[in-house]
Amino acid sequence: ASMRRQARIVIVGHVDHGKSTLIGRLLNDTQSLPDGKVEAVREMSRRRGMPFEWSFVMDALQAERDQGITIDTTQIHFRTKQRPYVIIDAPGHTEFLKNMVTGASSADAALLVIDAGEGALEQSRRHAYLLHLLGVKQVAVIVNKMDMVEFSQDRFDDVSAEIRAYLNEIGVAPGVIVPISARHGDNVVTRSENLPWFKGPTLVEALDAFKPVASEDELPLRLPIQDVYKPDERRILAGRIETGRLRVGDTLHFSPINRTAKIVSIEAWNRETAITATAGQSIGITLDQRIFVERGHVASLVSQRPIESHRLTVRLFWLASNPLTAGKTYTLKLATAEHRVSVEKIIEVLNIDDLTAGSADKVSRNEIADVVLHSRSLVAVDLAIDLPRTGRGVLLDGNDVVGGFVVTQADAVDARN
Ligand code: GDP
Repeated sequence: ASMRRQARIVIVGHVDHGKSTLIGRLLNDTQSLPDGKVEAVREMSRRRGMPFEWSFVMDALQAERDQGITIDTTQIHFRTKQRPYVIIDAPGHTEFLKNMVTGASSADAALLVIDAGEGALEQSRRHAYLLHLLGVKQVAVIVNKMDMVEFSQDRFDDVSAEIRAYLNEIGVAPGVIVPISARHGDNVVTRSENLPWFKGPTLVEALDAFKPVASEDELPLRLPIQDVYKPDERRILAGRIETGRLRVGDTLHFSPINRTAKIVSIEAWNRETAITATAGQSIGITLDQRIFVERGHVASLVSQRPIESHRLTVRLFWLASNPLTAGKTYTLKLATAEHRVSVEKIIEVLNIDDLTAGSADKVSRNEIADVVLHSRSLVAVDLAIDLPRTGRGVLLDGNDVVGGFVVTQADAVDARN
């Protein structure tokens, strides 16, 4: 069998519903922890007179990372018999929502963890809606702490029905709903005798059933320029190919400067020069003409350019304690580009519990709203429905991320040639 591609997952859910415990358990039961790690954490808990928690294992990994002992700074890895996984966010810290808003779109799939005793609370629903907003299509619902409800099938059915109804309403198809106990390991990696009535998969089987995400190579080319290097007489434009592919000899269009040039060479890091490059690769290219390209410009093929716009309608998730109001200005960050934007209009604010929309003059923390943004400089942008990777971004206030958004509409300026 060939090496299967690594799957990127995100684990979401209400605080205390067991996400960290689940991660500790998952790492342990898939033999993905360094030797002696669990023993060391058990010993540390004993010395401090605290009962052992699986979440401490994750905290310990996190602490090592903060000290820079491990190289990888944000990600937790494990593997099943099927394939390798990376959990692209560690919940439980204040940055979680922010990371989710700024990073979850690159997740292939998500686990939504719900406490069997408490059911889906407002935060569970908000996270589910965020997954929907960010285009994460494969979601498994995990009903955790089944040991606290005596592994009751009735309770599981009630919680399942409730969350299924909500997911249906927002247009997310839950792949599967799995009852587990993260603390005791029931149905995480090993099938549990405590859940004889459950005929579905274990959590790991549910993960392994996620489809690898469709290749992004076939989509229109988007190469946001990250840097321009001048090692000698050459100018090398560097960036990560978000979607599509390119090859030497292709004519590229650069937005929003509206210039074209041909690719003379492709320089892939750690490799000989290449003839082609595809989505996911970080590359450098040289061109046949000296045109003024800088960080933030977007290369595409001439026939499939991004929209160039001064006015965007976005669906926004607001993270800051200061509300967003009309007239305020922020920095809009889209791929590698930054633009000053002002809030032209708040169209409506969405109530996360019943999904009703209403007019409002401000957007408060943790609210979702449709908002019109205006930029004096021309923004190269895609609609999220066409190209999710370049159709979403964040708003900054100073250096702080204050909101995440997907672009739902963009008024194109007239084509100039
Ligand atoms: P998080 O905030 O979602 O990361 O939740 P934690 O993983 O920190 O768990 C919160 C509390 O729930 C901790 O005290 C855990 O020990 C407890 N917990 C987590 N999973 C289970 C479970 O399956 N059964 C029981 N009884 N407690 C659990």
